[in-house]
Amino acid sequence: MVQILSAVTADGKIIIPAQHPRTFLVEMKTNNKFSCIQCSEQVILKNGMIKTPHFAHTRNASCTQTFSEGESEDHLKGKLHLYEFLQKHASQVQLESYLPSLLQRPDLYVHSDPYPIAIEFQCSQIPVNAIQQRTIGYISKQIIPIWILRTPKISDFPVQEMGTMQLSAYRQQFFYTTPNGKIILTYCPQTKNFHYISNPVHIKGNNYIVKVKKLSMEKQTWPFAITKRISWEEFQKYFTIYKHHRFKQLDNLYFFNRRGIQSPFLQICYRWRIHPKKIPLFIGIPTKNASIFSLHAVEWQIQFIDYIHKLGLAIHQVDVQHCEWFLLYRKLSSNPSAEHIKAVESYLNILQHCLISTDQVIYASKINYSLMMRMLYGEFLAN
Ligand SMILES: [Zn+2]
Repeated sequence: MVQILSAVTADGKIIIPAQHPRTFLVEMKTNNKFSCIQCSEQVILKNGMIKTPHFAHTRNASCTQTFSEGESEDHLKGKLHLYEFLQKHASQVQLESYLPSLLQRPDLYVHSDPYPIAIEFQCSQIPVNAIQQRTIGYISKQIIPIWILRTPKISDFPVQEMGTMQLSAYRQQFFYTTPNGKIILTYCPQTKNFHYISNPVHIKGNNYIVKVKKLSMEKQTWPFAITKRISWEEFQKYFTIYKHHRFKQLDNLYFFNRRGIQSPFLQICYRWRIHPKKIPLFIGIPTKNASIFSLHAVEWQIQFIDYIHKLGLAIHQVDVQHCEWFLLYRKLSSNPSAEHIKAVESYLNILQHCLISTDQVIYASKINYSLMMRMLYGEFLAN
């Protein structure tokens, strides 16, 4: 049953028990009745010794549905910390205020110019479309939603500041775009730290390279701080990690391919007479939108080059239409979306700028490596 931090007394006063001493609460409880600010049903003050003091509905009230969640102690604590932080830093903030036009109660609601902000602290996994629905609702009323994810287990984070991390479809929803790239903001009520998971680069499936930075509650600002732009040196670190995983992937494709000779990847290697681990570095690079494919980039990019080669085209003769046909003919997508086409186009764009034209077939061409790196960095920053 949903737990709330605030309720109203019979004489209309809003009470947040977590902000009062325990002795005061004992006295309050004997002399008062409390009701839910939204549904007006009676709620019970829970002022035990262990959990954050809060209210609980006596019956399974329908107003449960107006919250995105509200079951855990972590959620209560985090919501309270954020409320106290905003009381200090923002002009006007409301806790658990009800928005009748949306039938929603964001954890926190900040009155700010030009648009109000709804803050949701999410601890438990809820269905992907529930978060989307709430986000769409807020935006339709010109309210900016900020979702803060409960910080994942430390073992889920990369060992170093930059490294690989599993980002499930659930986690990926919490990304929002800043001028310096995409970030997920997380908070841990136990340690009172924020974590920023930023600038994802897709490897394969749900595996991404990210940068993770910690920021304590004391050092947090309002509006919330954003991460710095990834520098050229940092991008080169990203690329080193990426290359390491690319080689691992080539190893896997070579040694452990379950489809054996049926594997399109291995078939191309045999045809080209290239050992899989000797595939040129421009096949399997982190181009824009590559995360639309669950496959590692090396698998679809090798197919793209093979497709162009089979058509007998030089790289400058290839256009958007070929990108779409490639997706259809190589069965990489039964119904290529605009995103799929964009991903292939981004790759084509890099090849067209960076391949050094020789009489060689494409896959034996040389590449202007430093130009390719600069282009990849440019796309990375724009992503
Ligand atoms: Zn209620």
